[in-house]
Amino acid sequence: MRYSAFRIFTEALRGNRGWRPAWRSPEPKPDYDVIIIGAGGHGLATAYYLARVFGITNVAVLEKGWLGSGNIGRNTTIIRSNYMLPGNEPFYEFSMKLWEGLEQDFNFNAMVSQRSILNLFHSDPQRDAFVRRANAMLLAGADAELADEAQLRRELPFLDFDNARFPIRGGLFQRRGGTVRHDAVAWGYARGADARGVDIIQNCEVTGFQIKNGVCKGVETTRGPIRARKVASCVAGSSGRVMALAGMRLPIESHVLQAFVTEGLKPVLPGVVTFGMGHFYVSQSDKGGLVFGGDIDGYNSYAQRGNLPVVEDVCEGGMAIMPMIGRARLLRSWGGVMDMSMDGSPFIDKTDIDGLYFNGGWCYGGFKATPASGYAYAHLLATGAPHPTATEFRLDRFARGHMIDEKGQGAQPNLH
Ligand SMILES: Cc1cc2nc3c(=O)[nH]c(=O)nc-3n(C[C@H](O)[C@H](O)[C@H](O)COP(=O)(O)OP(=O)(O)OC[C@H]3O[C@@H](n4cnc5c(N)ncnc54)[C@H](O)[C@@H]3O)c2cc1C
Repeated sequence: MRYSAFRIFTEALRGNRGWRPAWRSPEPKPDYDVIIIGAGGHGLATAYYLARVFGITNVAVLEKGWLGSGNIGRNTTIIRSNYMLPGNEPFYEFSMKLWEGLEQDFNFNAMVSQRSILNLFHSDPQRDAFVRRANAMLLAGADAELADEAQLRRELPFLDFDNARFPIRGGLFQRRGGTVRHDAVAWGYARGADARGVDIIQNCEVTGFQIKNGVCKGVETTRGPIRARKVASCVAGSSGRVMALAGMRLPIESHVLQAFVTEGLKPVLPGVVTFGMGHFYVSQSDKGGLVFGGDIDGYNSYAQRGNLPVVEDVCEGGMAIMPMIGRARLLRSWGGVMDMSMDGSPFIDKTDIDGLYFNGGWCYGGFKATPASGYAYAHLLATGAPHPTATEFRLDRFARGHMIDEKGQGAQPNLH
């Protein structure tokens, strides 16, 4: 069923009796060409591109809970491609280009809103670092624009420019950055994959792998064993747990990250703004709530909820750049489990076990990567070769010493 304005009009005339569920709830088949573990954004996008681009449709996506119950439905919805390193920037710019055509591509309103992202800087050395990043972005074909203090005073007059500790001296804009309605991304990919024959099986937890003589031949699940020629793990914050079932230990730790929403306010924030001297990022949702977040909680956890000290820390960050946030009432907060890699960059790779593939290590930033991650993972699964924009996301990069340490913060997951 194709969605369109005409369809809404005709359904209204027919009492809305023609709408069908956006995806089926099939029983698992005994075997598939590809099994994807995890119906988050990345798993569903992988299934979608496998079917749409590579014509591989005998695919199952196995989800232990309900579709979208993980980080895809918990993030602060920010998209951007303002990276510096050659291993990262082409990949995130590829993702940005996929975002730009996504709604037409999968025929679903994901509310892609390129309302801009602004990284504030507070000192001359920080400005120089941002200029360097902006130049790297421009060389990679992305957009970048440096704004001085006078321009920001005109565009965002409510910022605290004269804060004694963190005076705002300017910022780096990426005007094509912005926000996307996170769960609509999961729904759109699910609908598009299902329409092409992919089985999305919810309430089906993977509990083990069928591995014989170094070859993965399928998975054990709470709904019985299922065979497959290729098994692709895509479980984000559960990566360590799931890959341990295959005997693998990953350079990834799981940490909680919280997000917060205030009561609805009149439109005040035109785009996304981030603090340069601490960890705080904020945007305003179309309903009016200020949506913001900051650092991870700083201890390992698989619980999808956080603790109070980080609430205080994040709100302090907000108060440092826009004190008016102190007047808004906080309505909701929640947590998600982050797959923090040791250099802050992800993995999309084969494992040493034939037929077993791994996608994870997305840290704070996997939502914006969803389209490119799905496309690149599908490319790897279908062709056996990494996608040209994802050649560096290898599992052996720590053994080789080729880390992709975007922020120079080393092995400190709490600093990424
Ligand atoms: C509070 C918060 C704010 C964030 N903000 C941003 C942001 O603004 N921008 C950005 O780019 N990124 C952001 N992120 C990060 C981003 O959300 C994640 O990196 C990304 O969603 C992870 O990929 P995913 O969508 O596939 O993960 P998930 O949605 O977590 O998908 C993984 C799925 O695997 C399932 N699973 C786990 N174990 C099993 C098993 N054994 N069997 C079957 N299924 C299993 C889980 O139930 C889950 O549904 C944020 C994250 C959080 C928590």
